Amino acid sequence: MCSQKCASPGRAFGSKYEPASTATEKPLLTVFATYTLRHKYPRTLREFFGTFALAYLFTDAFLHVLHMFFDHEHNQHYPMQWVVNFAVYFQVHHDNPIKSATENHMEDIDNLCTVTIAFVVFWHCVVWRTKGRALPRMLYLWTLLVIGLGELAIFNHSKCHARTHELEVPAWTVALQDAGVLVHPATHRRHHSCITCNGNTANLPESGVTINVNYNFLVGLSPIYDRIYHAYPIYTILHILFWTVNPMFVISCVALASLRSADVPTPAVKGKVE
Ligand SMILES: [Zn+2]
Ligand SMILES: [Zn+2]
Repeated sequence: MCSQKCASPGRAFGSKYEPASTATEKPLLTVFATYTLRHKYPRTLREFFGTFALAYLFTDAFLHVLHMFFDHEHNQHYPMQWVVNFAVYFQVHHDNPIKSATENHMEDIDNLCTVTIAFVVFWHCVVWRTKGRALPRMLYLWTLLVIGLGELAIFNHSKCHARTHELEVPAWTVALQDAGVLVHPATHRRHHSCITCNGNTANLPESGVTINVNYNFLVGLSPIYDRIYHAYPIYTILHILFWTVNPMFVISCVALASLRSADVPTPAVKGKVE
């Protein structure tokens, strides 16, 4: 499978296939984070840890699915151009992994963060206009944590390659990688073990077969997801997961459930957004 997946799309970085970042992401994220921490902060430690656990498990699963989907060779011919762009971008990374360590890799998820926040803002306005109240309180913090963990994951991905190539890596990142809190470079290096990826010929797996493992960007449940993927390598399932295991889908489902729920008196009814 990897022999096809990892085949070079024959296009270089810096082309139209590279995801563009948005200048609006940073101010938008700042405003959203400020609003969430001022108005939607967790009221108990239990609330915080519960939301954090849900955000961590979700982000791990989401990034797994995203990575498996965009690494799949079928998506170089997907009917939507932006999906093709990302698929090519992900697969070119196998040919030229050091780029993620030498360029601003974190910019690559700016659009994703912007769209995620835009979904919360959109549904917040819809529910407020329709029901006179906000979305469920913890959805805001959950979204902020998913974005934060996504940023951390992509930062660490960059530092995995930096460390493999003996570039500078912050001491705290090295310490967390060695402690198993963040993905270790050796773990991610296995993902790049592919006989058809240029530059990885010295990193062949045993007996020269290809392996599709370690798609994770957070430590998470990678061995479980890899096993499932190998047991059921069905593109249709992966395709369905791509369109459902993502923050925009989750936010929309929660918002729709909120719209359908019975009206309950809240401070918002008295004119205060809660
Ligand atoms: Zn990959
Ligand atoms: Zn990589």
